[in-house]
Amino acid sequence: MSAAQGFSTLDRDRVFQELETRVFDLAIIGGGITAAGLAREAALRGLAVALLESADFASGTSSRSSKLIHGGLRYLAMGDVALVRETALERKVIFRMAPHLAERRWMVLPTRSYAGMIKFRAAVTAYEKLGAVEGDDLHQNWQKEDLAREEPLLNTERYPNAVAYREYLTDDARLVIANLRSAAAAGACLLNHAEVDGIRVEGGRASGIEATDRIGGQKIAVRARCVVNAAGPWVEAVRKLEEPDAPSVLHLSKGVHVSLPAQRLPLNHMLVLNQKDGRSIFAIRQGEVVFLGTTDTSYEHEPSLWPEIGIEDVEYLLRPLASYFSVDPPQPGDVTAAWAGLRPLVAQPGKKAKDMSRKDEIMVSRGGVVTVAGGKLTGYRRTVERILDSAGDVLGGKIADVEEGPLPGGDFDGDLERLSAGLAAEFGISELAAARMSRLYGCEAREVVGLGPEPIVDDVPILVGEVDWAVSIEGAAKVEDVVYRRTRAALYSPEASHRIVEPVARRMAELLGWNTQQVSEQVEQTRKQLAVDLSFSGGRS
Ligand code: FAD
Repeated sequence: MSAAQGFSTLDRDRVFQELETRVFDLAIIGGGITAAGLAREAALRGLAVALLESADFASGTSSRSSKLIHGGLRYLAMGDVALVRETALERKVIFRMAPHLAERRWMVLPTRSYAGMIKFRAAVTAYEKLGAVEGDDLHQNWQKEDLAREEPLLNTERYPNAVAYREYLTDDARLVIANLRSAAAAGACLLNHAEVDGIRVEGGRASGIEATDRIGGQKIAVRARCVVNAAGPWVEAVRKLEEPDAPSVLHLSKGVHVSLPAQRLPLNHMLVLNQKDGRSIFAIRQGEVVFLGTTDTSYEHEPSLWPEIGIEDVEYLLRPLASYFSVDPPQPGDVTAAWAGLRPLVAQPGKKAKDMSRKDEIMVSRGGVVTVAGGKLTGYRRTVERILDSAGDVLGGKIADVEEGPLPGGDFDGDLERLSAGLAAEFGISELAAARMSRLYGCEAREVVGLGPEPIVDDVPILVGEVDWAVSIEGAAKVEDVVYRRTRAALYSPEASHRIVEPVARRMAELLGWNTQQVSEQVEQTRKQLAVDLSFSGGRS
């Protein structure tokens, strides 16, 4: 196998043994961006780290976001200047660490009047000052002739002006995996599909966690000097394992995205579209699809990995397309993929979900369990620094900072076009496959393609080598892990995702020794989920 450092599903038994026998400094509950970023930073700073995730890594909110590394112009209007400054500055840092996971793109804000453009320019200028944006990255004003060239589908009779400013597009789940691989390389012990169902308390202090392996059913007990609850929308449930009467701190808000084939809405850039209710949604071109999102509605149920998507969510997202674009308006039946996630917002009584701050909040229980609520994908490194300050208090000393290097796949200059051209020339793979591989794997794409450059089924850009890489380097243990969160086929190659399920299962069976029954269970479960994603009435199934 490859020399690349990672964590292999083939090593699960060794991980169980290590978890049971070592005493860790930190036991982290969760496997989203907060937990992954924390595991990396803590392991790099020399702490002994264990991390347990109940489903797959990144299967919660951290694979369901709008995938923007951004400060959020909207939060500036809400007066959250400190949050916007912090996240706007983080954009450059993430770009330096992983340029393939922070692609520089134009965000286009179309306006109906010149006065509207002046207003947006003022907001964008303030945003750029906060984010220390300079040079080529400063905003541009686009008029009719620029828009005809840059975004020909835009209805310029209605929207004759636009402000184009820089934002960064990531892949949320792959950013999580990159952080976890870096954590594993620094010695962290990571396990997915292992649900934490107990917090051990000795002498009034938390001394570890208990968990159940959701694949083999095995019970695991992990000893640790400090426990961190980074369970996103599930933090309340995890807190109750230690303090059953802990008051609620979270307000959950559901955000839905839908995607359309790029041929149906051939956009070039990322656009901000205003809704009649005063909210905005993004329309984002990513390879073969354009995705639209997001909704922002209060979610009053127990948190779920697969929040339901209603036809009203889909119609809401498609509604502005008719007025913005000269195109036959897309219908729910045109939608080829859809995903919903839950924002774990810190509750602010009296405010609507859309008006609540995206700030994080860190709490330490009497028993010393550190819980983190709220936050944004973009600001994960800063959230992690604050968690480590609190964890340092529990551990009895400040945890010294270290200099961070690139994330796996991120050690290159950010020129994705050159990377793709090199891959296509060396391996004879299609341009589409080469572009996709560069975006997902950065400078490691060569190694992944080298494991198997042939498409996993005819005419799809997903390659055989990706399955081996996902299992041996990125801890994928189920077919769903590969289809949804490693290859991202379910989101960005929805037509192909149905066709790859069986071949992925067959290859995983070879690698992991599955029998025929296990293969059919995996195939059935993944196909069922793909169908459920589009089961809102009016969607294709
Ligand atoms: P999660 O990713 O949810 O991780 C928590 C994990 O804990 C889950 O994987 C879960 O399975 C696990 N877990 C739960 N219970 C247990 C247990 N008992 N044992 C073990 N593990 C457990 N931010 C941005 O910066 N840019 C954006 O464009 C953006 N868009 C967004 C769009 C939407 C629709 C939403 C919902 C959010 C968006 N955000 C965005 C916010 C961002 O996605 C979240 O802040 C971030 O992903 C939260 O990560 P997390 O690690 O805290 O939570």
